[in-house]
Amino acid sequence: MTGQLDIIGLGPGRQEWLTTETEAILARASDLVGYGPYLDRVPHRDGQRRHASDNREEISRARQGLDLASSGAHVAIVSGGDPGVFAMAAAVFETLEQGDAAWQSINVAVHPGVTAMLAAAARLGAPLGHDFCAISLSDNLKSWEVIERRLHAAATGDFVIALYNPASKARPHLIHDAFTVLRETKEPETIVAFARAVGRPDEHMTLTTLAKADPALADMSTLVLVGAHATRSFEACGRRWIYTPRGTGGV
Ligand code: SAH
Repeated sequence: MTGQLDIIGLGPGRQEWLTTETEAILARASDLVGYGPYLDRVPHRDGQRRHASDNREEISRARQGLDLASSGAHVAIVSGGDPGVFAMAAAVFETLEQGDAAWQSINVAVHPGVTAMLAAAARLGAPLGHDFCAISLSDNLKSWEVIERRLHAAATGDFVIALYNPASKARPHLIHDAFTVLRETKEPETIVAFARAVGRPDEHMTLTTLAKADPALADMSTLVLVGAHATRSFEACGRRWIYTPRGTGGV
């Protein structure tokens, strides 16, 4: 039996930021597999089965999706944002590579979604107008030494830095430690934005500088953007914008 496994992302929160392709897959799938709070964002449909699991169980969730698809189901594995950015697509491939022969007949496809970094950038202006990078501060799957080395490299390389997973209930100190590393290299006046719950009713944006950035503003629903040397802030059309010019202006 040929099953279908669609790996999808719901975007950061707003219904309008769900792609039409993803919407069509959600309407067709026989089984939805994902972290409970993400599945809660999908309207219930008659006859569609839901398999909610805990956030940490990525590999067993991937295996569950592959097993269901290999028995002929049309499975959608659901992440927030984009499924390939710090999310389920990599967990599915990690599982598939170790692979069960029964999975070889499945049609597997990854479908892009709007990642939090892009939604946050759009709200702020154009902070990603020049070179940027994304770093997850979650130390579930890598050591703090690796995170520290990458932060240092990104700061030295003068990238705009998008920090995903800046804090969790278990590890609220991550963003505090990250700012400490960045302050060693970057200037105190470097622009920092806390983009919280972008696209959701409780969305909140805070613009500040690296010297003043308060780690307490970051929680699990926050994306922190740290500017490059060229990133600027100004007021126009009734509000404040930040952007990074497309040329480095000789810097
Ligand atoms: N696959 C997701 C990222 C998962 S990691 C994506 O592409 O967006 C989870 C982290 O993403 C959160 O800790 C937070 O840093 C960020 N994030 C997800 N949704 C967000 C939102 N609506 N607003 C701000 N940050 C968000």
